[in-house]
Amino acid sequence: MQRTHATSDTRTAFAAHQVSKLFFGGDGPLWALRDMSLHVAGGSFTCIVGPSGCGKSTLLRILAGLEEASSGEVVRPEDDGAHPATAFVFQDSGVLPWLTVLDNVLFGLPPGNRRERVAVAREWLARTGLSGFESAYPHQLSGGMRQRVAISRAFATGSPCLLMDEPLGALDAQTRMLMQEELLALCEAERKTVVFVTHSLEEALLLGDRVILVSARPGRVRTEVEVPFDRPRSPDVQHHAEFVD
Ligand code: ADP
Ligand code: MG
Repeated sequence: MQRTHATSDTRTAFAAHQVSKLFFGGDGPLWALRDMSLHVAGGSFTCIVGPSGCGKSTLLRILAGLEEASSGEVVRPEDDGAHPATAFVFQDSGVLPWLTVLDNVLFGLPPGNRRERVAVAREWLARTGLSGFESAYPHQLSGGMRQRVAISRAFATGSPCLLMDEPLGALDAQTRMLMQEELLALCEAERKTVVFVTHSLEEALLLGDRVILVSARPGRVRTEVEVPFDRPRSPDVQHHAEFVD
């Protein structure tokens, strides 16, 4: 069974200690993760990179609390009451096809005054380049724009932590490059703690201040790389090597 701790310690946003996940599929039992341990510092942009099938999505879903580990310990941030502690961005955007762009962003917002919620949603649509598309439906948008909707929704929640599962993975190279820069700028401006999963080492090294490499199977951490910084970073980013539980 998984043991879970909530933390309000800003140095540790997430941690996994000896986490394993066993799936029982049609081909019998399969370890998606085996004794994986990692630590994500508050305020960091941590990239998790590894080949397809190594357990990246499973790990992220466990960190998010969307899935339960078979064994091990998970630390995740405490909800502060007003906002959920984490927002998730899926590879396939996860936008709801029957809702307009604006309603998709509103869907992620905590309940409250309608006018204020609409103002927040519109602001985030503007910051992700979607002004004028509020009334459009997802099928009328390009893949890149649908990901912008998903990113707007995640930021609009006000959650301090963003967990992103290959959010740019399905985009063409040019759109991807553009959105990498935009996403990084937004995350830094808003001082988000980010865990970003990708199968591209190039993308991980571009975006991350820390890169965690995961082995092909059965999902063990191979090594961690601190990426030398050549861009301004928020002064309160701290790195702690020790595991906190
Ligand atoms: P990645 O995101 O790195 O591609 P995943 O976490 O999606 O890897 O999957 C890791 C392994 O676990 C794969 O072999 C995958 O087929 C398997 N797996 C993932 N989710 C399930 C599930 N719900 N049921 C059975 N097997 C699963
Ligand atoms: Mg995946």
